[in-house]
Amino acid sequence: MKIAIIGAGMTGASAAAWLAAAGAEVEVFDKGRAIGGRMSSKRLDNAYYLDMGAQYFTARDPEFLAVVAHWQRTSTVQPWHFTPYVYNDKLHLSADEEQRFVGVPSMQQPVKQLLADISVTPSCRISQLFQAQQGFWHLRAEDGREFSGFSHVLITVPPAQASILVQEFPALLQQVPETILQPCWAVVLTLNSDEPQDVASSHPAKGIFVQTGPVRWACQLQDKPGRHAHPRWLVHFSAEFSNAHLTTSAADVASIAKAELARILDCPVEISDSLCHRWLYATVDVKQSTPGILHCPQWPIWLAGDWCFGGRIENAWLAGRQAAQQIWQNACSPAK
Ligand code: FAD
Ligand code: NAD
Repeated sequence: MKIAIIGAGMTGASAAAWLAAAGAEVEVFDKGRAIGGRMSSKRLDNAYYLDMGAQYFTARDPEFLAVVAHWQRTSTVQPWHFTPYVYNDKLHLSADEEQRFVGVPSMQQPVKQLLADISVTPSCRISQLFQAQQGFWHLRAEDGREFSGFSHVLITVPPAQASILVQEFPALLQQVPETILQPCWAVVLTLNSDEPQDVASSHPAKGIFVQTGPVRWACQLQDKPGRHAHPRWLVHFSAEFSNAHLTTSAADVASIAKAELARILDCPVEISDSLCHRWLYATVDVKQSTPGILHCPQWPIWLAGDWCFGGRIENAWLAGRQAAQQIWQNACSPAK
């Protein structure tokens, strides 16, 4: 049994690790140069990482908690102890007891660990899948490369991109929640800490849940374990703002981020540099219902992702594991 997994984010990695441990042959494909998907940290100057995507994760499921404990023992993740602030036209402390974790030295480290012993083909955008001779599945990449001989295929790419891959399978296509993931503009502001009135770099708020205005989250990246010490703020805009500014230039979004941060912190923000990333598919629209793992009995194709269970890294790990178990059960059923 040879299984193709399209997408090397947390869902694909979790599924691949489970299937490989069960004894399956697994091959993972990702369009990105690096693995990790939305658990993405940008590497700068070949030396340090800036977390542009997922910021941290929490763990509630007992099995996921056990995996996180293993990641802690292997220094793959570390707890990020910050006391949250909330901004709702006023900034105030909002302490809680939540344990939050980050990958070290970058957010993708847990994905790297899950895929350590698995065959991964990066920089490979799969554009088509079809059944070839003797019922085996065939994948075709955008650049013309072909991969064949798969008994089962698991697609873990965002639903809008997955729908392109399942065009030929209408019963599956009609289940795909194409609009469930919403966009997010992410901006890193590097502070000019030589400025005499620089307050932003020593501000006591390290992570802020923003409830009013266009920003949803702001944090000091240098406060996270294993990150570069230079003071930098990361700003995530809301889905509403990001949707309305999909075509706004990065320079304009960065200057809005700088003004919003100054407003939230109620102090001047002087920057020496900025870096923006526009996520087209970032976080789950909570107004839409979550569909669980998608599969049609006619075809050995499964669709899974964080969106199956409501977003978040933990849900991506759970979705990968559940899809893997379904595939394994199907592969081992007596009818095969
Ligand atoms: P993805 O990580 O999206 O993986 C899908 C992979 O498929 C990608 O690597 C992509 O390159 C690849 N792909 C796409 N199309 C193709 C193709 N045709 N061929 C090959 N490969 C393809 N979660 C939290 O728990 N905490 C947070 O703080 C948090 N904040 C977030 C902030 C932002 C800005 C974003 C974007 C997300 C955030 N999330 C957060 C959500 C979290 O990142 C996701 O829940 C999780 O990473 C999803 O993993 P996944 O494997 O399901 O999908
Ligand atoms: P979490 O429990 O720390 O945060 C969940 C949400 O609860 C926060 O976004 C915030 O709005 C609120 N919150 C948490 N602690 C708070 C506090 N002390 N005071 C006030 N509000 C507080 O972590 P999580 O549920 O694991 O989510 C992690 C992050 O992922 C959050 O930033 C969240 O916005 C984001 N998220 C993404 C998705 C997705 O679709 N991928 C879904 C849910 C959450």
